[in-house]
Amino acid sequence: MSEITSPEIVSHERPVCEVCQQTGSTVVTRYTRSPWPVVACDACGFVYLGRVPDYEDLSVNLAWEKQHAEEKQRRKKVNKLARFDALTRFRLKLGKVIDRNRHTTGVSASGRVLEIGCGGATRIPEGPIPYGIEISEGLARKARPIFEARGGTVYHEPATTGIERFPEGYFDSIIMRSYLEHEAQPRLILERAFKRLKPGGTILLRSPNYNSANRYIMGAEWCGFRFPDHVNYFTPRSLKALAESIGYEFRWKNWISLFDDNLIVELKRPAATTFGRPVSEAA
Ligand SMILES: [Zn+2]
Repeated sequence: MSEITSPEIVSHERPVCEVCQQTGSTVVTRYTRSPWPVVACDACGFVYLGRVPDYEDLSVNLAWEKQHAEEKQRRKKVNKLARFDALTRFRLKLGKVIDRNRHTTGVSASGRVLEIGCGGATRIPEGPIPYGIEISEGLARKARPIFEARGGTVYHEPATTGIERFPEGYFDSIIMRSYLEHEAQPRLILERAFKRLKPGGTILLRSPNYNSANRYIMGAEWCGFRFPDHVNYFTPRSLKALAESIGYEFRWKNWISLFDDNLIVELKRPAATTFGRPVSEAA
């Protein structure tokens, strides 16, 4: 069902909502940038790209490190609000140290930790054996020696297949920072991650917050919109619904920061369950 929508990008439609698994959606015209329709699920309201690039294109043509420079230029030109947005993000950078702490608290200090979408480095603190999955070939090559020096490795492939290289119950923690908004199959990756976490293990997740105050102020120029590489626009509610339907316990870690453009969340595989069901039912 793939087809060409621009000279270079091979893409496919996404007819089913990842959160509630229903079909039927309405285009949000004010945010849509052709040929990439931003749609809202008619049943649950989850906002996502209704057409997404194929993984092969993410690997090479759309790799974030290439796109970043172009997008920065475009944003500078686009309108006066961009200046306000830049100031907002500068202010948020001041909070980055706090953010880093918030993000790494809860990451296991020993055992094995997986970072999905690790980019060219690692955010896994010293202690555990680090593993990474990275879709960009260039970044995976850069990160690999860093992970290998600590006894782990990095796989260059889509996360949904990369994670299957690991046995069940293998990881103490999984980091998904600035990853899930890029993943066309967030339900599938969260299901596969659930199985590979030890019971009681956690995912530390950071993703743009579609309900952030800044999105209401900036509208279509909100920094969370990136076409076509951000394909999911989670809110606390939709991310919670998705995670809980798989069996995770959901904890929102930065609920107090109203002006944060990102959601920081902990998803826990409950200590006493098997996949999606309490132990008593599974027996
Ligand atoms: Zn839905």
